[in-house]
Amino acid sequence: MPRRWVLVSGGVLSGLGKGVVSASIGKLLQDKRVVTIKCDGYLNIDPGTMNPFEHGEVFVLDDGGEVDMDFGHYERFLPIKAKRDWNLTSGKIFQTIIEKERRGDFLGKTVQIIPHVTDEIKQRWRNIFDREKAEVGIIEIGGTVGDIENLVFFEAARQMRLEGEQMVAVHLTYVPILDSVGEQKTKPTQQSVVLMLERGIQPDFVVCRSRDPLSDNARHKVALFSNISVENVISNPDIQTVYELPLVFQKQRFDILLREKLGIKGRIELGAWKKLVDNILKPKTKVRIAICGKYTALKDSYISIKEALVHAGAHLGVMPEITLIETTEPAGIDSKLKGFDGLIIPGGFGNRGCEGKIGAIQYAREHSMPFLGLCLGMQLAVIEFARNKCNLKDANSTEFSAKTKHPVVFLLPTQRGVKTKGATMRLGGQTVAIKQGTKAADIFKSKTISRRFRHRYEVNPKYVPLLQEKGLVFSGMTPSGDIMQLMELPGHPFFMASQFHPEFTSKLEQPDGLFVELLKAAAKHLKVDSR
Ligand code: GLN
Repeated sequence: MPRRWVLVSGGVLSGLGKGVVSASIGKLLQDKRVVTIKCDGYLNIDPGTMNPFEHGEVFVLDDGGEVDMDFGHYERFLPIKAKRDWNLTSGKIFQTIIEKERRGDFLGKTVQIIPHVTDEIKQRWRNIFDREKAEVGIIEIGGTVGDIENLVFFEAARQMRLEGEQMVAVHLTYVPILDSVGEQKTKPTQQSVVLMLERGIQPDFVVCRSRDPLSDNARHKVALFSNISVENVISNPDIQTVYELPLVFQKQRFDILLREKLGIKGRIELGAWKKLVDNILKPKTKVRIAICGKYTALKDSYISIKEALVHAGAHLGVMPEITLIETTEPAGIDSKLKGFDGLIIPGGFGNRGCEGKIGAIQYAREHSMPFLGLCLGMQLAVIEFARNKCNLKDANSTEFSAKTKHPVVFLLPTQRGVKTKGATMRLGGQTVAIKQGTKAADIFKSKTISRRFRHRYEVNPKYVPLLQEKGLVFSGMTPSGDIMQLMELPGHPFFMASQFHPEFTSKLEQPDGLFVELLKAAAKHLKVDSR
């Protein structure tokens, strides 16, 4: 089986949405087995140890991999379960090269970027493709074509083409509109294509991100300066929802042209997808959801949660309007929450902002505001309940107060000897046994579900009987019953929290029940609310 590749690179600016472009290309080819490979130039092994301010959200895969958030886009668009080694970083590559050098694998040789590092990269790409029995491999190179740290990935791609592998190169650029003349300016795109040519890679397609659809004039200029035909210049205007992009591409016959170049027949029918997109664009109702977190300054910090809400909303015809609320200053949280129809407390680490989040949870519990807690959100909901319903005034997590008298949340026993930080949490897909007769059982209609985790702390089993006695229901646990994984409060319109991250497995075509129920409850809240 010949290997077929689509190389996705970017230029002019970073943050143009290469991940969404790659995911959309995958969507248009999804009748074939697609693997999505992301190459990041940084020297970290993975983004797991990075602050969301640095790198946006850390996405967690089923196999426990902590990977670039573009994998979120790939999995939300495509029927795939990505694997950790599909995310290549310079850190991973160099670690292997240095280990090989020490072992003596290169004995007698000078170890060099070319050929040793480029060989390692090509070998990894090919191994992934072959092992997954892929029919199309999409390789996205992070950053922009001018970046020094990504040079080696471009060089590996150039060599692969030279070695006769079929590789279609798609280059994403930005076309600014100069306000004073109201004209789309293509010069930055032309220069970015020149940089690609310097790396020895002629793009087959140039995708131009711009506020408006590309004018004929701009399209012709880009084609001329990029040595490609006009129809291979693809317009990527600003759109209301990222899920529109495969439709925008299909309208321009991008999929047909890509398939011709790759030698693949067929076409994807996107009718059902389009219906969901239409629901996002024309919702019946709008609800206001507050997300209380500490990384509120960066819009990508909670991207999977936002997308999971959009997925659920698309199925209900409800549009979630999301507001991020900073809780570092706990005072006045009640008044900040007034007017919202639902509250989400997302995952997080460290003490900052936690008292404010606990205050927000108390408000939601006492004011019948629909509430969903995620990971840290569940731990804080348990702390709030212990303090205010079980009379354990200084209940806390040992993450925030090592000496608390009532450690209702404490370190998982398996975490106690752990000293290093990289990839050492309880990570990845795990089974959750659902307790029958609960709201969770109604939602999931299954005795077990599998969801993804990323945590070190858990609800302290010693306090479970007391919490239950006071009315808290643990509706999901590990099959052996030792770790509490899902909780709910009966009698409240919607009050649920999970130790897992349902946002990492939600797809547009398969929303997660917890987000669906939150939005249903929020829509009801909207009706009864006096606003
Ligand atoms: N800090 C908490 C823990 O490690 C929660 C983690 C999270 O929200 N992902 O258990």
